[in-house]
Amino acid sequence: MQKQIKLVKRPVGTPTYDNFEFVDTHIGEPDEGEVLIRTNYISVDPYLRGRMNDAKSYIPPFELNSVISSGVIGQVVESKSSKFQKNDIVTGPLGWQEYSVAKDSSIRKIDADLAPATAYLSVLGMTGLTAYFGLLDIGQPKDGETVVVSGAAGAVGSIVGQIAKIKGAYVVGIAGSDEKTAYLINELGFDAAINYKTQDVRTALSEACPKGIDVYFENVGGEIGDAILPLLNKFARIPVCGAISSYNNEEVDLGPRVQGYLIKTSSLMRGFTVGDYTQRFKEGSQALAGWLQDGKLQYEETITDGFDHTIDAFLDLFKGGNLGKAIVKVSDIE
Ligand code: NDP
Repeated sequence: MQKQIKLVKRPVGTPTYDNFEFVDTHIGEPDEGEVLIRTNYISVDPYLRGRMNDAKSYIPPFELNSVISSGVIGQVVESKSSKFQKNDIVTGPLGWQEYSVAKDSSIRKIDADLAPATAYLSVLGMTGLTAYFGLLDIGQPKDGETVVVSGAAGAVGSIVGQIAKIKGAYVVGIAGSDEKTAYLINELGFDAAINYKTQDVRTALSEACPKGIDVYFENVGGEIGDAILPLLNKFARIPVCGAISSYNNEEVDLGPRVQGYLIKTSSLMRGFTVGDYTQRFKEGSQALAGWLQDGKLQYEETITDGFDHTIDAFLDLFKGGNLGKAIVKVSDIE
């Protein structure tokens, strides 16, 4: 038997424990072309909140009473596929459960010699690729420009800021605690950091960005995103990656009208999802792995121990409980 986590009630506002249920079920058996995987690590991500709503988006909503899924690292326990052998370490979109049966086409092996397995859920995984493509394809930071990133101490933001530094930009991060702002400056080499919970963001931004803002990497939306607009330079770029401050809103989130700011500065504001770049994932993965090996990229992970705490780790994302990538450890890799 194994445990799995199902969505049993759609959240209204901030999710609570009664939206989810732990269910005991049998471990499945692989058919031809499938493998049985023991779950080692589960990625918990803010975008999963959107999939809990019954609303059209770039990815279908979770069905009620179905197992929640996200990025997982696991180890092959039994293989009925010529592509995988017992003990291979693999990653793919799998269920929040202790064991999964997966088609061999839906998973891939990871190179655990290059980096620890969890890195494939963080810097070398979906969030690293999001940072890479959003910043470089849309943001296009140039030497000496000012780049501001919100959600800066999180999985995406921390990589965005470091890539911007690699490209020679002056980098300002916005995050929700003094511990996080100190981490950005002292560990990741950001030029300045703002604690949006204790500082007036507009004033702090004007002080931290004396030359205005050329790139704003948007992870949080809301009032933080609003505060950027008056400081935009001519031809500024705004990759809109996420808006976590509004994910639990019950009403439509209204802010200042953006058109005037964009027209006056000829700025580009463009939403994207990492899935837009699937054809270029190899390029992104190679670049991120190269910087990691050269010591130019650092990454942090907040690992919550135990499958029973998966929901806690997910809910913590909305309280700023994580530094770097939020991951749940379910079992050891053997
Ligand atoms: P993070 O690791 O950044 O975790 C979420 C963080 O958001 C928290 O730690 C918290 O940090 C911050 N936060 C939570 N609530 C608020 C709030 N009300 N206002 C401001 N900040 C808040 O998550 P990810 O790096 O995985 O994701 C970052 C953003 O990127 C999310 O919006 C996500 O949806 C989006 N995303 C988009 C993708 C795409 O393809 N477009 C792919 C992956 C992620 P703090 O302590 O600083 O408040």
